[in-house]
Amino acid sequence: MVLAQQVKKSYDGAMVLGGVDLVVRHGEVMCLIGPSGSGKSTFLRCINHLEKIDGGGLYVDGMLVGYRQHGNRLYELRDHEVAARRAEIGMVFQRFNLFAHMTALENVIEAPIHVKGESPREASEHARELLDRVGLSHRINAYPNQLSGGQQQRVAIARALAMRPKLMLFDEPTSALDPELVGEVLDVMRDLAADGMTMIIVTHEMSFAREVAHTVAFMDQGAIVESHPPEEFFSAPRHPRTRAFLSKIL
Ligand code: ADP
Ligand code: MG
Repeated sequence: MVLAQQVKKSYDGAMVLGGVDLVVRHGEVMCLIGPSGSGKSTFLRCINHLEKIDGGGLYVDGMLVGYRQHGNRLYELRDHEVAARRAEIGMVFQRFNLFAHMTALENVIEAPIHVKGESPREASEHARELLDRVGLSHRINAYPNQLSGGQQQRVAIARALAMRPKLMLFDEPTSALDPELVGEVLDVMRDLAADGMTMIIVTHEMSFAREVAHTVAFMDQGAIVESHPPEEFFSAPRHPRTRAFLSKIL
């Protein structure tokens, strides 16, 4: 689903991604961990067309990010083509970014109606299912400021799922939450994983990573240092930088 080959990205000459290599298979849950500033968010943003890479190759579901192939020539995607590709990827941020003037239901139906052209009726039916799935069927008419942080984040997940994405990206989805609200959001992600959703999750929740991830990847200084199944990752990290990081947070 995602293939990164020596992905590079700089800002004003400062290298942020120095050659990221990564494979995420269909149905795989990958937890991406690493110190602050190592490039995790930038990498997710590149996958989701929010940043352009400067070098290497990045593919989502076999298609080169940012380009359309025609014969053996590559054309840069136009805005509407970028929008179409982005519609297939759900992204959930640390801050929930819900539309403050819309109810939970309205937040969830907005993109399916305006981006995908679904009918209000179809979008509402699907949104109700999704809000039920994230445990919020009793709050569909609440505005974001009437919801807890955990509830808002669950609406944000339902909103991302409303586009029927083939890939979900999570960037520290529980980092802004009060500790007692973290579990309810992780439960929703656990349920998605069990359902076979392909996910890349940047997180500091190590017990979640250990339990839910198929693969844990460690990023440091703009590169993937190592990636393994969680048992191996946590019990026998190979690289000294991984060991140093884990010893600080575990
Ligand atoms: P992480 O998510 O692992 O904490 P980020 O991807 O947010 O790391 O940031 C990696 C580095 O890139 C940091 O040094 C950050 O300051 C820099 N950076 C991120 N976004 C920008 C930007 N838009 N302009 C300049 N520098 C940026
Ligand atoms: Mg980040």
